[in-house]
Amino acid sequence: MAFDSLSQKLQNVFKNLRSKGRLTEDDVKAALKEVKMALLEADVNFKVVKQFTKAVQERAIGSDVMNGLNPGQMVIKIVNEEMVKLMGSETTEIALRPGQQITVIMMVGLQGAGKTTTTAKIAGKLKQKGKKPLLAACDVYRPAAIEQLKINGEKQEVEVFSMGDKNKPVNIAKAAVEHAAKNGNQVVILDTAGRLHVDEDMMDELIEIKENVDVAQTILVVDAMTGQDAVNVAGTFDEKIGIDGVVLTKLDGDTRGGAALSIRAVTGKPILYVGMGEKLSDLEQFYPDRMASRILG
Ligand code: GDP
Repeated sequence: MAFDSLSQKLQNVFKNLRSKGRLTEDDVKAALKEVKMALLEADVNFKVVKQFTKAVQERAIGSDVMNGLNPGQMVIKIVNEEMVKLMGSETTEIALRPGQQITVIMMVGLQGAGKTTTTAKIAGKLKQKGKKPLLAACDVYRPAAIEQLKINGEKQEVEVFSMGDKNKPVNIAKAAVEHAAKNGNQVVILDTAGRLHVDEDMMDELIEIKENVDVAQTILVVDAMTGQDAVNVAGTFDEKIGIDGVVLTKLDGDTRGGAALSIRAVTGKPILYVGMGEKLSDLEQFYPDRMASRILG
């Protein structure tokens, strides 16, 4: 299970804190040192860990908390609150344009992150909201990707727009938006090509789409299992093309937690959804408070 090791360690720290009637400054500092170690071992970004423990310490080492009735409990509460803050506090939804205006969503990410699967998963969520999304197959480098999108689109009962692999992605994207306007699709989701690594060609292609199509939301899909790499990828994509939000996939695996806890703090961009499995229904809205409760046990 995701976060198992981190949860276990934090629970041990908390158990210790709860067992103490009164807390000294040194008790709090010692506990926070353990929290820090646990977060670092969970692959949370080093700067994020430092800021986090500093924030908790500043709030915890004050007369109100230390002289309170239940100091241990108070410190735990502060850790919880700061962790929720770290992940952005609020739940962020994909922003759709009002009325009949078309919202173009561009899905980006490295190959294997789960982009094509997530595209179809999001289409399902939009359908639940009464929308009629159109999926556009803009990954022309892997014929299998077009096929996979078509199969997933069929499963979700949403139309997939494809022009095969002989056209430029930007032209497919433009044609898809025109198609959507004629067919009453309020949302167009572009499934773009991923590469094994961030490279110039990929970025240029995405920039070209953004320059020629009125993209309302750029959503990055990253694999939670890759930890800090996912965070670095998010930083790079945001810098090069600008992203509006992140979907963190494969949280059903035994990821250590680093990406979930760092992405928002490092990039300033919210996690919108988390992927919880390979099935097209396995996509959950991201709630920072629930995620913190899950991690803290
Ligand atoms: P793309 O190359 O980014 O388009 O990635 P795909 O959508 O083809 O996904 C790569 C693999 O990851 C596939 O086997 C998916 O079934 C799998 N996958 C995607 N999202 C999740 C997830 O949330 N959990 C799990 N366990 N597998 C996922």
